[in-house]
Amino acid sequence: MSNVSPINKEFRTAPDQQSGQMSNTPASQQKISAANSEPSDDLSRLYDAKVMMVDDEPLNLEVTQIYLEAAGYSQFVSTDDPMKAVALLDSERPDVLLLDVKMPGKSGFEILGEMKQKQMLQDVPTIVLTASSDAETKLQALELGATDFLAKPVDPSELVLRMRNTLAAKAYRDRLANYDRLTGLPNRRTFIERLEWALDYAPRRNKPGAALLIDLDGFKRINDALGPALGDELLQLVAGRIGTVLRLVEILSKFQTDEARPTLSRMASDEFAMLLPVLSRPDSAAQVAQRVLEAVASPFSLGGQELQITCGIGIAVFPDDGMDTDSIVRNASVAMHHAKREKKHSYQFYSHELNARALHRLSLGNELRKAIERNELRLLYQPKNDIQTGKVCGCEALVRWLHPEFGLVGPDEFIELAEETGLINSFGEWVMRAACMQIKAWQSAGLTAPRMSVNVSSHQFLEARLPDTLRRILDQTGADPASLGIEITEGMLLKNAEANVKVLEDLKAMGIRLSMDDFGTGYSSLSYLNSFPLDELKIDRSFMAEIQQDGDRSAIVSAIIAMAHSMEMKVVAEGVENEHQLQFLKAHGCDEYQGFMVSKPVLPKEFAERFLGATYRAQETPD
Ligand code: C2E
Ligand code: MG
Ligand code: MG
Repeated sequence: MSNVSPINKEFRTAPDQQSGQMSNTPASQQKISAANSEPSDDLSRLYDAKVMMVDDEPLNLEVTQIYLEAAGYSQFVSTDDPMKAVALLDSERPDVLLLDVKMPGKSGFEILGEMKQKQMLQDVPTIVLTASSDAETKLQALELGATDFLAKPVDPSELVLRMRNTLAAKAYRDRLANYDRLTGLPNRRTFIERLEWALDYAPRRNKPGAALLIDLDGFKRINDALGPALGDELLQLVAGRIGTVLRLVEILSKFQTDEARPTLSRMASDEFAMLLPVLSRPDSAAQVAQRVLEAVASPFSLGGQELQITCGIGIAVFPDDGMDTDSIVRNASVAMHHAKREKKHSYQFYSHELNARALHRLSLGNELRKAIERNELRLLYQPKNDIQTGKVCGCEALVRWLHPEFGLVGPDEFIELAEETGLINSFGEWVMRAACMQIKAWQSAGLTAPRMSVNVSSHQFLEARLPDTLRRILDQTGADPASLGIEITEGMLLKNAEANVKVLEDLKAMGIRLSMDDFGTGYSSLSYLNSFPLDELKIDRSFMAEIQQDGDRSAIVSAIIAMAHSMEMKVVAEGVENEHQLQFLKAHGCDEYQGFMVSKPVLPKEFAERFLGATYRAQETPD
């Protein structure tokens, strides 16, 4: 019998970052298994441990498992074939092993001996089950690496006690090995493991990531002047400040999966490193670096005096700057030294191109502040058509920035920047007001205004005043709430689900339509969406390419449509570019579509002429 419980398989697919050192993931793969700060001592986590049992007597295996299950353990791997034990250990990497000694074919001693030869298995704590009380046997087992003993037949309370002690000792040992004692942060070794894991994951995700190396200036001098005790305190304070940036990055991140969580670690005495496993664009790392600089810059109060310190930050981005841990750490270090030489308290990318881009974004950010007052924003409109009749039934407002020097800047270039610089709320308000005014303008021109959709950023959502803001804008412009809908993305809902439901319900009560944008790009399941009062689901345009290729994944599109309908949501396909896609969507009951096949986003005048049957005389443009 070789039995691997299904739970284990599930856990192997998603390395667990939340749990502390007692992850279900094997030691060698516990690359991000510990939390970002000092792990909690919560012993209940011990019960998440994966327990492996080897005993030639299946009944013993069964009985031991029942005892352990009763105590709260749930992850088991077992075999009654000692010949298979080492291979199973190798593939399963349990947190603890219960090993019988006397077995036909291969004894527990032999298995311990083989484990000792394998580096990966040396650390697996092993409780040896032995009927013998003879000291010689125990000594031999200890020499071979056993951690503890248990007499057979197994007494349940003794078993549970031994198990708990063994796992607690392992947790303590892991913690010493993986965390920095002074700051409680993951140490260099953990950082490298997590980086390795992030690099493994990067190709699958197709998004860049970055490592930031942060080195304090003149720490040795400060340490000599203050003395080691205050020097230590300063390092703890710095770790705390950078930790705040880390948490902010976590909250603001669009990527809410475990493997995307950032890490801050202490690499050496005055050197910290931050791992950003997933970024929407490589130069986003600059914003994080900027925040770290700001966090470190404000004075520290230490030993009754104020102290100001500076640092240099080097950034290496993967995949571009390397795809192995050595290259990334080395290149981040090269960039860090460069930063220190170039300018006090600054950051540098390893890549020249990214430095130039970060600089461009910096000036873009400065200009962005003036965009509204200089009246440089414009809304374009893209029609949404009914799939059965082909008629225009709505439109989506898409913002553009018309800059005198940079030209037409698309939302992908500046929305994120507006979010990072805190300008998004005023931008969002401008967009909503302009869209509502457009509805009124079309109506005053005697046209039937189509249902209008505007995109809302997650930051506007986090503000939680969105319903109030919208109410005010609707009042001021006189637009009918029923003609307005908002588009939100999956990431927003996942972040703060309960509060979001409340905001969505408020909006819905006002009569505003709620639409889930870009569905399929995030991580939420359709059933999860059921908890939100959504009216419409927009299938992300990346799925249209799948339809084009007639690939297997076109089945996903039809499944999304069917499921969304069963939840009484209307389905809109985004990015429809050709007849083939349209026919597929029609055949599968999609309700509406939007895409270049009908039109690119256009100015309101063109929209009115082409889709609302307007005829304007010269000088009579409503925009
Ligand atoms: P989105 O809401 O998913 O908007 C659809 C995007 O797909 C638009 O890009 C549109 O031009 C493009 N598109 C439409 N049909 C096709 C097609 O057939 N093929 C292809 N390849 N693309 C198509 P755009 O205007 O560049 O906007 C990009 C994203 O920026 C939007 O994605 C939305 O998330 C965001 N955005 C746009 N305007 C605003 C805004 O006012 N506020 C906020 N917060 N975000 C906005
Ligand atoms: Mg949209
Ligand atoms: Mg979309």
